Amino acid sequence: MPRETLFTKIVAREIPADIVYEDDLCLAFRDIAPQAPTHVLVVPKEPVESIDSLTADHQELAGHMMLVCKKVAAAEGLSAGYRVVINNGKDGGQSVDHLHFHVLGGKSLKWPPG
Ligand code: IMP
Repeated sequence: MPRETLFTKIVAREIPADIVYEDDLCLAFRDIAPQAPTHVLVVPKEPVESIDSLTADHQELAGHMMLVCKKVAAAEGLSAGYRVVINNGKDGGQSVDHLHFHVLGGKSLKWPPG
């Protein structure tokens, strides 16, 4: 039985979110504490914990999520560029144990992140 997280609850519509995109495999919603003018999280509906939890069976899902990030960026008007970030594990800064791609944009982003 997969563990319940904040994002499994958002996927199940048990807690509210500002949803910007949905399809059979994933959901995208605005980050509650945006780090850029546009900050959207793309999550799989299936409760995969992290990049580390991905297996060969997730190849299609992982590629699909990348294309959804591109779709979200286009819908958000990020024609000047954007960044896609995946934090993995404690040192990677992952705070919610449900895989998520951050789509950040709307300003000139600094590099490297902290
Ligand atoms: P992580 O640190 O890479 O795991 O990212 C988790 C993200 O989830 C953070 O950017 C949080 O601001 C965001 N977050 C936490 N709770 C919520 C929520 O209820 N709705 C939307 N985003 C959230």
